Amino acid sequence: MSEGLLRTTLPDRAGAALRDTFLQQALTIATTKFIDLRRESFEGFPQGEALRDRARAIKEATLQHLDVYLERLADNVERLGGTVHWAATAEEAREIVLRLARDRGVRMAVKSKSMATEEIDLDGALEHAGVTPVETDLGEYIIQLAHEKPSHIIAPAIHKTKGQVAELFSRELGGRFEADPEVLTAVARRALRQKFLEAEMGITGANFAVADTGTVVLVTNEGNGRMVTSLPRIHVALMGIEKVIPSMSDLVVFLAILARSATGQKLSSYTTLVRGPRRAGELEGPEEFHLILLDNGRARQIASTLREALYCLRCGACLNVCPVYRQIGGHAYGYTYPGPIGILLTAMLKGNESVRELAHASSLCGACKDVCPVRIDIPRMLVELREHLDREKIAPWSERVVFHAFRRLLLSPVAFRLSARAGRWLQRPFVRAGRLRRLPLLLGRWTRTRDLPPVAARTFRDRWKELR
Ligand code: SF4
Repeated sequence: MSEGLLRTTLPDRAGAALRDTFLQQALTIATTKFIDLRRESFEGFPQGEALRDRARAIKEATLQHLDVYLERLADNVERLGGTVHWAATAEEAREIVLRLARDRGVRMAVKSKSMATEEIDLDGALEHAGVTPVETDLGEYIIQLAHEKPSHIIAPAIHKTKGQVAELFSRELGGRFEADPEVLTAVARRALRQKFLEAEMGITGANFAVADTGTVVLVTNEGNGRMVTSLPRIHVALMGIEKVIPSMSDLVVFLAILARSATGQKLSSYTTLVRGPRRAGELEGPEEFHLILLDNGRARQIASTLREALYCLRCGACLNVCPVYRQIGGHAYGYTYPGPIGILLTAMLKGNESVRELAHASSLCGACKDVCPVRIDIPRMLVELREHLDREKIAPWSERVVFHAFRRLLLSPVAFRLSARAGRWLQRPFVRAGRLRRLPLLLGRWTRTRDLPPVAARTFRDRWKELR
């Protein structure tokens, strides 16, 4: 989270996002498009539902023996000539990359899109050490030029309109570029081409890593991943330990549902399989390949209530359908991972205290679970997270008092009946056209942006009497 964002509250950040008309326009267009593409893609793919079940089962079975699969992966990567590094924390992961860069005199590193490198703030560390990081995914390149952070897991610059990108390119790259995606893509391509040739190091994430074969898999749409993994003389791949899968046949299952969930494609344009460094006789590929296996708080979650969040494929589908994300965008969440799954990942990586406010940034409507390719039960985990916040006394005291009082009320039929009767009487001055439209005092915060149905005029007992 940036220092600036840490100083503001979630309601302040959300309010600013709601007032930003450009952001609202960009979010509506992009998320609606992603939702439609995903739906059409699965409608024409009857095997999709069974494959989602299969993918979930693979994730669950892999987590049961994660240590075994990680050891197997490491052995096979080393057998292919690569070097495996284990990083317990973000600091360790950064230090490994910086040491490699320092020892080999690296001055420029090209990167393909990777949320894991965002998670450890690698760009900042590289810059600090005198290494220039260059993002080569178009969305990442845009936000790097704008000195911003990604606001979506797969579409980092989703918050920008094409007009804003045209202005940014004109200002930063010199020229006057029209707000035409083709023109802007060509401009970025020209600017990046030379960087691929100059960089001594290529840095990527990994969508999957296959334990049986030591293969690191990258799924991209722009071809930059191939350039990053093959042109510089050193390739460093950073992946969370949960990305390991057992076999190539498992990979086929995930590839069939990942792109459909993310962008509605049958397959992403490029699926790159990296198997170690260049071997004798091969014409291209890096001289060195390093795989960094990042824990950073993941292993301790295997036995926790957040376990299922480790299944996440980072497809972004749950963000697109989330009514909260669709309104406030990714930056308002304040951390690397936005959206409903982002709340859980933030709690996982940074502790429950960090999601004190965010745990409530969900309507629990269940749309996220419906679209998730591995059926992660995000709403259940959010409810459990709220329970933890209450039990650990992290939630604000006022909220804890209100909910404890409400619990007591629900557990006592007499108290419930009496309060319903009192509610019906007290609400009278505030009911307009059958809705509670403006409540007084603190309750007014609820009705500032929405209304409520009034407390029902008839109790359950009235209804029961009628039926008899
Ligand atoms: S939780 Fe599911 S839908 Fe959301 S990003 Fe992860 S895999 Fe995709």
